[in-house]
Amino acid sequence: MITLALSKGRIFDDTLPLLASAGVEMLDDPQTSRKLILATSRPDLRVVLVRATDVPTYVEYGGADLGITGKDVLLEYGGSGFYQPLDLGIAKCRISVAVRKDFDYAQAVKKGSRLRVATKYVDIAREFFAKKGVHVDLIKLYGSMELAPLTGLADAIVDLVSTGNTLKANDLIEVEPIMEISSRLIVNRAAMKLKHEKIQPLIDAFNTSVSQSASNT
Ligand code: AMP
Repeated sequence: MITLALSKGRIFDDTLPLLASAGVEMLDDPQTSRKLILATSRPDLRVVLVRATDVPTYVEYGGADLGITGKDVLLEYGGSGFYQPLDLGIAKCRISVAVRKDFDYAQAVKKGSRLRVATKYVDIAREFFAKKGVHVDLIKLYGSMELAPLTGLADAIVDLVSTGNTLKANDLIEVEPIMEISSRLIVNRAAMKLKHEKIQPLIDAFNTSVSQSASNT
């Protein structure tokens, strides 16, 4: 049996065409089912639904052989407990700094004042501001980052931005992109050896599909 760990939502939806390119269809639909282990058209391949931040843990410790999650999650997780053979180019977005419309970010950074920054991505934010030589107090949040500047909890946030609609709806503006994000395939080290015959064809099919969609854009 091969187990693939995915999170619900964009990553799950964007993975369906990749699975289809490997001849695999989902038999269970997470929209209508509350199951956490989903069957596929291949009796030896199943999908487990976990939080995006738990995907590396499942793959590192063998709860899943393969997983798909964002570069943001992998950077924040750290370590090298798994192989990372493929950037799948799905669930694309960026990590950016955002502030209230009326906050003078350029001036605050130039003056060398201490910025209070709320984020889920504490390591990424720390490294980014350290490189710029900006002093920051980091406040770790687990969700609804947009609220932090609106309530006075922080001057700025570091968060994922896709269309920018969420920032706009909350009167925030993106002031500086930090990095582009997409989702990666990760593979358990032992499984890569012990289940190579089953895993390698999946990697190859994903790779072909990714190269084709890259050449179509
Ligand atoms: P948007 O309004 O399209 O800019 O999307 C921003 C919101 O969606 C933020 O709350 C982000 O945390 C979340 N988001 C955007 N892209 C992704 C992604 N690829 N994976 C997970 N969350 C995302």
